[in-house]
Amino acid sequence: MLTVRLKNGKDKSIRMGHPWVFSGAIASVQGNCENGDTCGVLSSSGENLGTGFYNAASAIRVRMVAGKGEAFDGAVLERRIGTAVARRAGILDGRTDSCRFVNSEGDRLPGLIVDKYANGLCIQVLTAGMERLKRHVVDAVAKCCSPEFICERSDTDARGREGLAGSSGIILGAMPQAVTIRENGLMFGADLAEGQKTGFFLDQRENRRLFGAYAAGKTVCDCFCYSGGFSVYGLAGGAASSLMVDISEPALTSANDNCRRNGFGGDRCESVAANVFDFLRKTDRRFDCIVLDPPAFARHKGEAAAAARGYKDINLLAFKNVEPGGTVFTFSCSNAVDANLFRQIVFAAAADSRRFVQVLHVLSAGPDHPFNVAHREGEYLKGLVLRVE
Ligand code: SAH
Repeated sequence: MLTVRLKNGKDKSIRMGHPWVFSGAIASVQGNCENGDTCGVLSSSGENLGTGFYNAASAIRVRMVAGKGEAFDGAVLERRIGTAVARRAGILDGRTDSCRFVNSEGDRLPGLIVDKYANGLCIQVLTAGMERLKRHVVDAVAKCCSPEFICERSDTDARGREGLAGSSGIILGAMPQAVTIRENGLMFGADLAEGQKTGFFLDQRENRRLFGAYAAGKTVCDCFCYSGGFSVYGLAGGAASSLMVDISEPALTSANDNCRRNGFGGDRCESVAANVFDFLRKTDRRFDCIVLDPPAFARHKGEAAAAARGYKDINLLAFKNVEPGGTVFTFSCSNAVDANLFRQIVFAAAADSRRFVQVLHVLSAGPDHPFNVAHREGEYLKGLVLRVE
C-alpha cells in the first residue's frame, strides 16, 4: 500500500483528529499511486497514524478517513453513511421532509455531501478519493434511503482544486422537473439541476425559524434573499411586509414563487433586483428587521481582508437602516473568515454606526451540518442576531 510519511512535528494535528495533511507536511511518499487511492499515513518516526485519500493534484494531499488500527473499505463507507442518515431522523417529520444527510468531514466522509429533497437525493462528490468510491456511495444511499431519484451536482470550484472535472446529472430514476420541499411546515421549490449549492440553502433552516419568531408585525428587508427562505418564514410569522433584494433575477422569480406557494403575495411581498451594497446605501426606507445572508466574500485566506471590508460595509449599512429597537440577522459563510473575525467585523461596524447594539443570539448551521471539533474549517456558517436601539 502507498504510504505517506510526515515531517517531524507535523503529526500533531492528525493525532488531534484534524483530517487534512497539506503538501508541506509531507516528508516522503512511497509506492506507486494514483490520485484518489487510499494511503497509509506515518509519523516521521514511522508510527502508523491511520488511512487517508491521497491526491497529488490537491494542496490537501491526504484526507484522513480512518485512525490508527481502524479499517476503511466499502463496508465502513456504507456504515458511516447509514449512521449519518439515522442521526438525522429527529429532524424529519410531517413538517420537514428535507435536510442534509451527509456533511463531508463533519460525518467522517471527506468530500461527500448527500442532501435529501423530499423523496429524492442530491449528492455532491468533491474529492478524488470519494470520486473513486462513487459507485459504492450511490449503492449505499440507494439501499439505506430508497430514494425515488438520485441526482448529482458535483460542479463546484472544489472539484477543480482536486483536479476533477465537473459532473452533474441524474444517476438513478428520472430527473424531476421541479421539486417541492417542506421545511417547518412551509413549502419551497428547489431547483436541483441549476440552483445554488445542491438547490436550496438547507443550512439556514433553524435560523429562518428563529427569524420567523421575531417577525410578527414587522417590516422586513431580506438582503441576498435567493429563493426567499427568510421572507417566507417572516411572513408566516406575521411580518407586515417583506422586501426581497437579490442581484439575480431568477433568484427573485423563485423567491416570489415561494411566497405565493405559501399564500403570501400582494403588498406584503416586494422584490428588488439590486446590488445590496448600492440598495442599502441609497434607500431612504427603514426596516424593523434586516437579514444579511451574503454569498462567501472570501473563498480562501488571501481574500479575507477584502471580504472583511465587504462584511463591515453591509453591516454598517444595515445598522444605519434599521428602525430603533429593530433586529439585524447577519451571516457569513466564508470559511476564511472564522467566527472570531466575523464578530470583530460586525462589532466594529456597530461601533461605527454609533448606535447601542446588543447580541441576542449566536447562530451556526443546523444540526444536520455538524462539524468535527478538530476541523474548525467545517464551521463555515456563522450568524449573529443583534438588536439595535
Ligand atoms: N438567504 C438565502 C441564501 C442566500 S445565497 C436563503 O436563505 O436561501 C446568496 C445570494 O446573494 C444569491 O442569491 C446571490 O444571487 C446573491 N448575491 C450575490 N451578490 C450579491 C450582491 N452584491 N447584491 C445582491 N445579491 C447578491
